[in-house]
Amino acid sequence: MSSVKHVYTFGNKKAEGNGKMKELLGGKGANLAEMNLVGIPVPPGFTITTEVCAEYYEKGREGVVEMIRPEVEKAIRDIEEQTGMKFGDNSAPLLVSVRSGARASMPGMMDTILNLGLNDSAVEAMAKRSGNPRFAWDSYRRFVQMYGDVVLGMKPVSKEDEDPFEEIIDHMKHEKGVKNDTELSADDLRELVKRFKAAVKEQTKQDFPTDPWEQLWGAVMSVFQSWMNERAILYRKLNNIPAEWGTAVNVQAMVFGNMGDKSATGVAFTRDAATGEDLFNGEYLVNAQGEDVVAGIRTPQQITLEGSRRWAEAQGVSEEERKAKYPSLEEVMPAAYKELDEIQQHLEEYFKDMQDLEFTIQDGKLWMLQTRSGKRTGAAMVKIAMDMLSQGLIDEQTAVLRCEPAKLDELLHPIFDKAAMKNAEVIAKGLPASPGAATGQVVFFAEDAEKVYTEGRKVILVRIETSPEDLAGMHVAEGILTARGGMTSHAAVVARGMGKCCVSGAGELVIDYKTKTIKVGGKTIKEGDWISLNGSTGEVYLGQVATKAAELDGDFGKLMELAGKYATMKVRANADNPADAKTAFGFGAEGIGLCRTEHMFFEGSRILAMREMILADDEAGRRLALDKLLPIQREDFEGLFEVMQGYPVTVRLLDPPLHEFVPHTEKEQMELAKETGISIEKIRARVDSLHEVNPMLGHRGCRLGNTYPEITEMQTRALIEAAMNVEKRGIPVKLEIMVPLVGNHKELRYQKNIIDTVANQVFAERNDRIKYMVGTMIEVPRAAITANQIAEVAEFFSFGTNDLTQMTLGFSRDDIGKFLPVYIKQGILKADPFQVLDRNGVGQLLREGVMKGRSVLPELKCGICGEHGGEPSSVEFCHSAGLNYVSCSPFRVPIARLAAAHAALK
Ligand code: PEP
Ligand code: MG
Repeated sequence: MSSVKHVYTFGNKKAEGNGKMKELLGGKGANLAEMNLVGIPVPPGFTITTEVCAEYYEKGREGVVEMIRPEVEKAIRDIEEQTGMKFGDNSAPLLVSVRSGARASMPGMMDTILNLGLNDSAVEAMAKRSGNPRFAWDSYRRFVQMYGDVVLGMKPVSKEDEDPFEEIIDHMKHEKGVKNDTELSADDLRELVKRFKAAVKEQTKQDFPTDPWEQLWGAVMSVFQSWMNERAILYRKLNNIPAEWGTAVNVQAMVFGNMGDKSATGVAFTRDAATGEDLFNGEYLVNAQGEDVVAGIRTPQQITLEGSRRWAEAQGVSEEERKAKYPSLEEVMPAAYKELDEIQQHLEEYFKDMQDLEFTIQDGKLWMLQTRSGKRTGAAMVKIAMDMLSQGLIDEQTAVLRCEPAKLDELLHPIFDKAAMKNAEVIAKGLPASPGAATGQVVFFAEDAEKVYTEGRKVILVRIETSPEDLAGMHVAEGILTARGGMTSHAAVVARGMGKCCVSGAGELVIDYKTKTIKVGGKTIKEGDWISLNGSTGEVYLGQVATKAAELDGDFGKLMELAGKYATMKVRANADNPADAKTAFGFGAEGIGLCRTEHMFFEGSRILAMREMILADDEAGRRLALDKLLPIQREDFEGLFEVMQGYPVTVRLLDPPLHEFVPHTEKEQMELAKETGISIEKIRARVDSLHEVNPMLGHRGCRLGNTYPEITEMQTRALIEAAMNVEKRGIPVKLEIMVPLVGNHKELRYQKNIIDTVANQVFAERNDRIKYMVGTMIEVPRAAITANQIAEVAEFFSFGTNDLTQMTLGFSRDDIGKFLPVYIKQGILKADPFQVLDRNGVGQLLREGVMKGRSVLPELKCGICGEHGGEPSSVEFCHSAGLNYVSCSPFRVPIARLAAAHAALK
């Protein structure tokens, strides 16, 4: 045997591993070990380590089996000793479950296989021992079904087809004239097993394995294989999980929730995963096994009485009916419930986080099968962190670190407008599985969702139920609607994890995949029709319902306050008008890091004056047009300064190539000719002369101000006059004038001279002065490399990482879409460098720029205003590079503030 340990056993309150060993044992395995160590009842079992997964991809199946066989055989013997059952035995057969378990939970991976070890003779022994042949045959048919699907690849042939096993069950129910699976007899189930096996043989050309060891190895290898399936790869990509991690495999003695009326199985959360409310909740089913609760075939019942009553009210079920048909676990099995409630409290206090639990009650005895940190919505994330902080469970730093910056985005999404909602037609009501407001066109298949999404349309993915195969479609959908499944269904859990609006279990919907229609209340909704989902109430509306901006509550404010307390970097916003500045200020932006003045030139009469300036024959003509723009600019700047109340405002001088401001179509040019009285020929000729082969590297940035100094003069005058006017009104102004696209310190020197000259003119005219700073963007690689020379002139640096990325990587900002997907697939790039800062290239230039700049001016203020300023991992990098602030779009300000706090705390 090799000296490396590949298998870790647990059971009977002992474990070879523990909760800290997530890297090696996966999240599930580590927590199963930990639960044993804290004395919680867990069926005995063992975990095959994540390292073995990597070996599998090197050595292949045979090599790995050979490597771990002795340890697995010994671990199985351990389980046999603890349970008194024997693997492969014909009188007391030990059955096991096999489940995957990576470091982070991954819904894209292999499903659970239960009841492994059953074959034609073991099932008889099981029937005899339990005195319940129906139970034995039900377990067997489930095993054949799961194993057939997961290990032998028994899938629907086309997307419109039902699951082949479900189809056989439906036939059987029809033959027997029954409605539910539970009404099938032991003999019916025996017949089902026979038909299942025959179908497997026919479709997969393989015999169903009867040897339990063969079954076990098949299942274990399937788990490893599933690490590289498409869904898992996609999930890893969406969640930044490295492929090197690998998955562990957990093998555990079976306990049975389908042994009769004193048995049950369920899924629970220690707090509400949708809203964050501190309320134990979950769903269970009597006489059911594993997947029944989440698969949505039967209506799951609520665990607590409180939850059950709330559910009944939302569903319009009377108290009598609820009690009779859908009682809570608290009412049905009070003793087991009490123990479960104690355990959930214990686990939450122990792990100090909201837990997602799986349990089974076998003949009155409670067994815990899993505990892990529960997936939650952005709103729940914030509420749970703030509640746990005030409950003394976690400290401030932990509370901040518990909130994932990118997930705050969900809280900032629009919600339905109340007035619009009143008039909206409710066509169905399901469960409020994941909050939010979603409007889109109906599609029925994940791949169609992707297609429609790439056409730029909004989609709602409508499914009878979802499975991990639908992941990519769910990702692009605005919202998800299912006819089956409860609050713990796949759709609900995954949607919450993605922060997507989801309504699940809308049972009134009759969904037909073949005709691509939904029938409900006498209406037929076709593919492409618009519907809207309210994930907070479970309501489904016909058509598009209007939305409005989100309302943020006290917990959000508290989190932002804590973020501000721990962050050392400041966060500013990129804003070009008072409305955006107000939004950003409301989110706690401490200044404007970039006002792109060109955006001010497009509205109304401004564009006309701008065009006159561009079309002018000479400087005198340009000055005439600029005189018209001066009062407009001044007024715009006054608006910004007023909103920002003395916080720094960085205004960038004109940057884009002039051709962006002139009309290009014949029709527009004719109109312009009419409006200005300039001949069409002249307009055409001027537009043509503005044409550049590569405008992004052409006549733009400070090159404009250096060739047409009068533009810089006008903008400076507008800025200085505006600042003086606002200060006169008693509002302080901190003005930072920023020169774009500098690559040579002389370019900046030239611009600074113009700015200072005009400022001094205004001061002389008004016999007054104000303070202002002149700085530059660092967005040309040469500027970063010669930052020491530039710092001789500049009073601040702002890294324009959009252009810096474009010029460093040589990727066009506008054309990267053509090759980016391929580069990501091939692994050449890990992410879009225009979203996530390229640390090794652009990042190094940024570090060099900061270092060289500060070698001349030790206190040089450095910030970033490219798109990366609002992306959490880039914000973290900016912190490590010693930037004073990041600047991002207004709606990303909270995300950046939290990311800045994370960076400081990590
Ligand atoms: C940049 O280049 O990073 C930047 C902020 O400027 P713009 O995106 O306007 O070119
Ligand atoms: Mg730029």
